[in-house]
Amino acid sequence: AAGAVSAGAVLTIDLSALRANYRRLCREAGGARVAGVVKADAYGLGAERVAPALWSEGCRSFFVAHLSEALALRPALPSEAEIFVLNGLAPGDERRCAEAHVTPVINSGTQLSAWGALAQTLGRPLPAALQVDSGMARLGLAPEEVAAIAADPAHLAGVDVTLVMSHLACADEPEHPANRAQLEAFKALAARLPEARRSLANSAGVFLGPDFHFDLCRPGIALYGGQPFEGPENPMRAVARLDARVIQIREVPAGAGVGYGWSLVTPGAMRLATIGIGYADGWPRSLSNRLGAYHGGQPLGAAGRVSMDSVILDIGSAALKPGDLVELIGPHQSLGEVAATAGTIPYEILTALGQRFERRYA
Ligand code: PLP
Repeated sequence: AAGAVSAGAVLTIDLSALRANYRRLCREAGGARVAGVVKADAYGLGAERVAPALWSEGCRSFFVAHLSEALALRPALPSEAEIFVLNGLAPGDERRCAEAHVTPVINSGTQLSAWGALAQTLGRPLPAALQVDSGMARLGLAPEEVAAIAADPAHLAGVDVTLVMSHLACADEPEHPANRAQLEAFKALAARLPEARRSLANSAGVFLGPDFHFDLCRPGIALYGGQPFEGPENPMRAVARLDARVIQIREVPAGAGVGYGWSLVTPGAMRLATIGIGYADGWPRSLSNRLGAYHGGQPLGAAGRVSMDSVILDIGSAALKPGDLVELIGPHQSLGEVAATAGTIPYEILTALGQRFERRYA
């Protein structure tokens, strides 16, 4: 924008790649519907931009983690959009949730009674998703709770269960026995509530095949370009690109200590560039001396430790000057590679990316 000052880094979000990824997942899901998981601000990429882009591709169901996220998202979507809160209802939040026309994912008997009680007070049925624990021991009703609810419909008084769902623990490892075990457990539990739509698959689950699709799939990371399962090929298109700006360039002689702790002492004369991104922006400190950047397709090495707001690069003879941008995540250095080198997963890299960047939606 006119008059804006330069940010240390630019995060570019390719909404057409996001939309292509949504269509790709819809094809893979066959006849099942595909929701958008847009929690944690759409994995750091901006839920208020991402969700409407998905809506325009036909996505009608959205999942966030917290009610506060649902309330922030509600105005960005048409009122027919279903917004589900995965972490469920915190005690005392029921009324706010109902007023905002947000659907809680009920994870416990206590939440179910509180939601049912509010429905009685309001004199109208309230929609809910029920999460059942098919074998992850994280969130959801235990099998005996599901049996008790199914045996006595009074438990569901006032509650319109529109979805029964569960989450897969090991979907990114297609051969893991947990996948079949959870599938069978989920089928048995969902059969007790036959009226509701069913949902099991996350991104990796979509690629486990039709048995896992049910009525609604819930991908997150694959929408954002993350590789959904292990293997040589990523079927998804990259959505996020990160470039950082050169702040200063210097030439140092052999024997110079570089950055905190002098973790690098230059073996010979070097040209260094300091760029405006650091661990406060989510650029992992574990990449110190390990992963640099690219400029015009040419690699630039990491030199010394990642600081809070800056990173030093070994730029050799690269033609760079202050103000230029270098690629940190992009066509030459993928999100997957950055995450693997940092010893983490693409989810953590994306969701940690900071708020100080300039964001460009393309
Ligand atoms: N469903 C639930 C319950 C989740 O917690 C998540 C995210 O972790 C997703 C779906 C989306 O998972 P993924 O990003 O692996 O597709």
